[in-house]
Parts: sequence; C-alpha cells; structure tokens
Amino acid sequence: MNAFDAVVVGAGAAGLFCAGLAGQRGLKVLLIDHGERIAEKIRISGGGRANFTNRDLDVRAPQRHFIGDNPHFCRSALSRYTPQQFIELVQRHGIAFHEKHKGQLFCDGSSQQIIDMLLAECASGGVAHWQPCSVGEIAFSDDAGFRIDTSRGAVQAPKLVIATGGLSIPQIGASDFGYRLAAQFGLRVVAPRPALVPLTFGGEAWSPYAELAGLALPVQIETGAKKERAVFLEDLLFTHRGLSGPAVLQISSYWQPGAPLTIDFAPGVDVRASLGVAKQRSRKRIGNELAALVPSRLADAWVGQDAALQRPINEAADRALAALAERIARWQITPSGTEGYKKAEVTAGGIDTRELSSQTMESKQRGLYFIGEVVDVTGWLGGYNFQWAWASAHACAHAL
Ligand SMILES: Cc1cc2nc3c(=O)[nH]c(=O)nc-3n(C[C@H](O)[C@H](O)[C@H](O)COP(=O)(O)OP(=O)(O)OC[C@H]3O[C@@H](n4cnc5c(N)ncnc54)[C@H](O)[C@@H]3O)c2cc1C
Repeated sequence: MNAFDAVVVGAGAAGLFCAGLAGQRGLKVLLIDHGERIAEKIRISGGGRANFTNRDLDVRAPQRHFIGDNPHFCRSALSRYTPQQFIELVQRHGIAFHEKHKGQLFCDGSSQQIIDMLLAECASGGVAHWQPCSVGEIAFSDDAGFRIDTSRGAVQAPKLVIATGGLSIPQIGASDFGYRLAAQFGLRVVAPRPALVPLTFGGEAWSPYAELAGLALPVQIETGAKKERAVFLEDLLFTHRGLSGPAVLQISSYWQPGAPLTIDFAPGVDVRASLGVAKQRSRKRIGNELAALVPSRLADAWVGQDAALQRPINEAADRALAALAERIARWQITPSGTEGYKKAEVTAGGIDTRELSSQTMESKQRGLYFIGEVVDVTGWLGGYNFQWAWASAHACAHAL
C-alpha cells in the first residue's frame, strides 16, 4: 500500500495551498480530487479574475468580516497568515493585480494565474496529485493512522486533511464529503445553508417590481435587530425573481428565513425633507420630483402603485408624501427564499468549530484536519473567503 505523511482531499484553494506548504516543509504529501479539473472555483471567481484577498481585513479583529457559530474561531489563523503575506506570494510569482473596491484585490489577468501559482508551489514541494480520483471508505487505527480507499488504490497516512469545500455550485464538483466524514468520526456539523446568494420574492407581491429587472443602485440594506443587526452600504440589483448585487449577497449571509429586510434606496438623502421643499416650490409631478432622488425607473414603479401620488407635487397631501418617503428610505420586504446552492458563492455552516483547534485545524479525531469552506467560517464578499482558505491551510500545514 502507498504510504504518505499526509493526504489532502480536495484540490481547491485551501487544499492546494496546504499541500504545497506541507510538501515544502519536507512532508511526503498526496493531494486527491475527484474532479476532471481542479480549483474550478478559483477559475470562476471574481468574474474570472479571482478576488484573491482583501486588504481591509483587520488583522487585530479579523472576525469582523466573518460569520459562524463562533466568529472568534478564525482569529488565530487569520492573524498568523495575513493578506499581506499572500500578496507577497502573488508578487513573488510576478502576478499583476489591482484594487477594485473596498480593499478587494483582483488579478489584472486571469484567475488561472492563481491556480498556476498554487500548482507551482505544490511542484516545489514534490506533492503527488491523483485526479480525477474518488475517495471511498476511510478507516482509522491507532497503529496505522488512516487507511483511505481510492479509485487508484488504498493509501495510508497518519494525517488526513479535508479541504472539500461546501455545497455551492454542485455542477463543478461540490460535495457533502466533509460533512459525512465528520459524522463518521462523531464530529458535529452546523447545518449548512447557501450564503452570499441572491434572494427571491415569490408571488403577486413581487409583480410591481419584476419590471425593474436590471436596475442597479447603491442602497443601505439591513436585517435583524440589536446584536443580530447587520447592515451594508453597497449596490443592489433587481432581478426577475428578486434581488441580487453585492448588498443583497452580503445581507443574505445574515438573513434568517421569515425575517424582513429594510432597504434605504436613497442613503444619505432626507427624502421626506426634499419632497417637502419640492412641494413648496414645484408644480412638477411627484414621480418627476422623486426621480431627482432615486433612478427614474424606481420612482415610476413606486408612484405607479398609488393613485394619490399621480399628480403635481404641490397638490399632494403631506401624509401621502411622508408615506412615500418612508417607503423609499425604509422599504420593508420579506424574501420568500434564496436562489439556493446553484447560485450561492459560499456555504455557511459546516464543521462545528468546537470540534477543531483554532491553532492547527486538527479535529478531536487525532490526525484529522478540516480547512477552508468546509469549516463553519464564512467570510464577507470581497476576497475574505479565499483569505480564510489560505490562512486555515497555512495553520494546518505548519501543524502537520
Ligand atoms: C461563482 C463564485 C465566485 C467566487 N468568487 C470569490 C472571490 O472572488 N473571492 C473569494 O474570496 N471567494 C470567492 N468565492 C468563494 C471561494 O471560491 C471559496 O470560498 C473557496 O474556493 C473555498 O476554498 P476550498 O478550498 O475550501 O473549497 P473549493 O475551492 O470549493 O475546493 C474544494 C475541492 O474539493 C473537491 N472535492 C469536493 N468533494 C470531493 C470528494 N468527495 N472527493 C474528492 N474531492 C472533492 C472539489 O472538486 C474541489 O476541487 C466564489 C465562489 C463562487 C462559487
């Protein structure tokens, strides 16, 4: 039987990085993936340019940009492997990049450059690759460590690293392998759910807004109350089935089924006061005045729903204008659901962090490690999820 120091299952962001680092530290490493092509999520990420990290990650409080049952779990790994360290690696490989928005770093060229970089790091660590290769039974014994049955034969290793990611985008190789293995070893899993995902609004109530599909605008969006309150100032996009865009993807990770969202379509503008001033000075129609504050398609959709608003603004009742302002600045709507794993950028939930060491990613099962998205650590949109993949892989590789 083939024997290795460590076997890594899943050749995505976390698995490739971990295998390369462990190989470079002198370990004999085998990296297995069931896909025909590896690292498909890196390939499609950031619109094909991979938003590979985020400069705004606060290394003193990295948990600010992450969610999970224990948001502090990620702190140790993220503060020991920072965005700056990954940036230096990218620079050593001569990959040109740029900052786009809120600290987000993208390749100038293609995301393939990041994959090639990770493969080069694996090559310099002498990592063996088996792919496509499926993994069957896994057994552990105190004397022999892990025995892993694969479609290319059985292998043995004292250390096994699971980097099989979450459930998002099943068509490119996502599987529940990590969760099933955790269950086999008696480790708890926080129920997975789609995150960074468009939200849907079914039924008649949505029909006045369906015609806004394609409209994008900056908004402030929030959900939850008190300690659970989450708020983002980002762009929102109307779609045929609901809402998307960065604002909605971000809030979706915090949204609880049945809870409403509150959206301010004119953040920073006092809509009520502006309409009050217009009423004193103007004879234009309410829709035209509102179009000075928000996109005209949105103004038309709102005004079109109420006959009392289809008149010159100087003839409008104060109460009607106040109600209109309230709807623009504090629109409350409850999603019927999400677009699901087919459209979700990530999977929230995963291996319960109470089962793992935050220093090493080793689980309560000796020799078994979990890294990357399979763990109950979910980052904000904007390069945070890749940074978690790099940082958790780094912590694990140093511990192996
Ligand atoms: C459309 C899209 C765009 C994204 N853009 C960004 C972005 O720009 N920035 C960012 O930070 N994050 C982005 N993400 C999220 C990011 O891609 C993931 O968080 C990250 O890839 C997770 O890394 P991972 O190594 O844990 O898992 P993955 O990269 O998903 O890798 C898992 C690997 O495991 C393999 N695998 C799964 N099951 C098995 C099995 N049973 N046997 C063997 N192998 C298996 C898979 O084939 C895959 O190669 C994006 C995600 C999507 C879907």
